[in-house]
Amino acid sequence: MQATERAAAGQKAVIVLHGVHKVYGAGDVAVQALRGVDLKVEAGDYVAVLGASGSGKTTLMNIVGCLDVPTAGRYLLDGIDVGFLDESQLALVRRRKIGFVFQSYNLIPRMSALANVEMPLAYAGIRGSRRRERAMAALEMVALTDRAHHMPSQMSGGQQQRVAVARALVTSPSLVLADEPTGNLDTASTADLLAIFDALNRDGRTIVMITHEHDVADHAKRRVQLRDGLIIEDHRLVDLGEPPPLLASPSVAS
Ligand code: ADP
Ligand code: MG
Repeated sequence: MQATERAAAGQKAVIVLHGVHKVYGAGDVAVQALRGVDLKVEAGDYVAVLGASGSGKTTLMNIVGCLDVPTAGRYLLDGIDVGFLDESQLALVRRRKIGFVFQSYNLIPRMSALANVEMPLAYAGIRGSRRRERAMAALEMVALTDRAHHMPSQMSGGQQQRVAVARALVTSPSLVLADEPTGNLDTASTADLLAIFDALNRDGRTIVMITHEHDVADHAKRRVQLRDGLIIEDHRLVDLGEPPPLLASPSVAS
C-alpha cells in the first residue's frame, strides 16, 4: 500500500496478528501458549497487556518483538509479513524498529550506564563522538546524566531500569515493548518509569506494555486481557485521536 493510501485508510497499523498460535514442545508435553490471537495495534497507541502468570503474555511479546515466531498464523509488523524473513532480517527489523524493556533490566554488569546505552548504536555501526552524544542524550531523557559512568551494581533498581529505557530509546524505535517493566520496582521508581513511558507515547511512540498490575495498566490508552493463550477482553480507555508526527525525539535525534 502506498503511503497516501495508508493515510487515506486512517491510522497506520504497526502490529497486525491474525490467528496466532504458539505451541512449545511436541506430543504429550506440548504447551499451547497462544491459541489464536488476533490483534491490531495502530501507530501512537499505548496498550497494556494484562493476564495471570502463564496466560501467554511473554510469548505474545516475544512474537511481536520478532524474538520468536508463531507456530501458526500471521504477523505483520509495519505491513511486513515477518513470517517471510530469515534470522538475519528479523534481527535487522528488531534493531531498526523496536526498543525492548525487560523486568530484569538486562544490563551488562561490567559496563557503565553509558556503555550499556551505546551498545545498540555500536551494533548499528555508529562510532565515536556521535555514538557518545546520542547515548548521553538518551540518558538525559531518563534523568541519569549524572550516573553515566556508574556501573549497574552502583545504581538502584529504578535507575538501572531507566538505563534500560535509555538503551531501548537510543535508536529512536517507533515501537517500545516492555515486559513487566515495573515488576521489580518500588512505588516511586514505578511512577518515574511510567512518567517516561507516558511522555514517549505523547511524542508519538507506540507502546505495548505487559503488566499484571491494574494501576500500571491505567496509564495505557487500551487494555488487552489474556487468559489461557486467548484475548478475552480488549478495551479502549482513551481515544487514539490524530497521531502526532513521529519525530526522532529531539534529545536522541541523530
Ligand atoms: P506469562 O508471561 O503470561 O506468564 P508465558 O508466555 O511466559 O506466560 O507462558 C505461557 C505458557 O507457555 C505457560 O504455560 C508457560 O509455562 C509456557 N512456556 C513459556 N515459555 C516456554 C518454553 N520456552 N518452553 C515450554 N513452555 C513454555
Ligand atoms: Mg511473562
